[in-house]
Amino acid sequence: MLSPDMPRKLFADRMYRIGQENAFKIGPHITSLENEGHRVVRLNLGEPDFEMPFFIRDEVKRQLDLGNARYCDPQGLPSLRKAIADQMKRMRGLTVSPDQVVVLPGGKPTIGLTLHAYCNAGDEVIYPSPGFPIYESFSLYQGAKPVPLHLKEENQFAFTAEELDRLITAKTRLIMLNFPSNPTGGAVTEQQMQDIAEVIRRKCGPEVRIYSDEIYEYILFDGRKHVSIASCPGMQERTVICSGCSKTFAWPGGRIGYAVLPSEEEAQVFKNLNIHYFSCLPPFNQEGARVAFEHAESSATIERMVRTFEHRRNVMIRKINEIEGIHCQMPKGAFYLFPNIAGVCENLGALDAYGKLPGDLRQRTSPATLFQMFLLYHHYVATLDRNAFGCIGTEGQHYLRLSIASELGMLEEGAARLQEAARDRAGFEKFMKTTAREVI
Ligand code: PLP
Repeated sequence: MLSPDMPRKLFADRMYRIGQENAFKIGPHITSLENEGHRVVRLNLGEPDFEMPFFIRDEVKRQLDLGNARYCDPQGLPSLRKAIADQMKRMRGLTVSPDQVVVLPGGKPTIGLTLHAYCNAGDEVIYPSPGFPIYESFSLYQGAKPVPLHLKEENQFAFTAEELDRLITAKTRLIMLNFPSNPTGGAVTEQQMQDIAEVIRRKCGPEVRIYSDEIYEYILFDGRKHVSIASCPGMQERTVICSGCSKTFAWPGGRIGYAVLPSEEEAQVFKNLNIHYFSCLPPFNQEGARVAFEHAESSATIERMVRTFEHRRNVMIRKINEIEGIHCQMPKGAFYLFPNIAGVCENLGALDAYGKLPGDLRQRTSPATLFQMFLLYHHYVATLDRNAFGCIGTEGQHYLRLSIASELGMLEEGAARLQEAARDRAGFEKFMKTTAREVI
């Protein structure tokens, strides 16, 4: 958020409504601790810790050697759009024309473009909370009304059709879904998705759009298969599917994402927004992405990464659940654990400490944030707190997100330090007296 000291009239009103992505905000804290000589265990990372596949790297290099670095089709290279359309058939059984596909710089821009394309001021946007922070922040920026759909731990961070049903009104314009989910690792069964689709068909007019963020589509555990709402009857024509190469191919720096629109006309609107914002995407990276979809070793490469995440999850869930005051649901996909730390907040006195903060400080923090920063500044473990994943209506929710995108030894050290921190009451008191106010 802009500082309250910033002159009110300097920026347009919307700039005072946009939030921040805490995943990027924590970076300078880590750097300053590392500059002081501390070794920080990073459990905050939102990117796979694997090398990008050799077949992408080789193709990008080859394209650069060919000098393929000029402007290109603003909708995305036709050959890449065809590869994406074919993947939609393989993965979801959907028949998609390459002209319904728009290539974008990562999965993230689809969120803002979808809000621009479909939402007027005051329209209601239902989104998962905890969820990717940009959903809430960008809805506010757009002037839409964010309506959080709270994902409950007791439902394994999925939601029931009834919970969605209760939130849909005549003003609902967009319903955002994200399975497998960041930050909880929640996923839904085919039957749960069919139930959700049934509510949408029954309660929403044909102009209501579903934004389905499927960026973790391949990262599922225990033999689960990806379920897309677009595959449910009558839903493809209402759904904007968003995915990309950042997670699947461990290639977030390539900035290749895409949206599959319900119609070619809607894709033209996104193409035009693309022209206004980006002109086009680097053609050499688009060729790399095309190869990623088509290469014979693609599936095996993804599979190796997913099995590694699954093994780490199995080890870490055990270790985290052994810590007094913490309990954690078993994630079904993605590469995060989302433990409930209410017991730790209670044991360390974080709830009391939070209650005693002056109003302005209390507003921008939470007991989980106090613990998160204590863990970072006194035990050198970087994590993200509950409020990094949507803030509206989160009082009384005490969670952290732990990423398992680091090698196992590092993760185990992180778990051991977390255990130490969870019983370091004296350290927490000291943190509140010395460091807290400077860092929260
Ligand atoms: N959607 C979700 C749920 C994510 O977790 C992320 C990244 O962490 C993105 C979108 C953005 O992906 P990209 O880096 O491709 O823009």
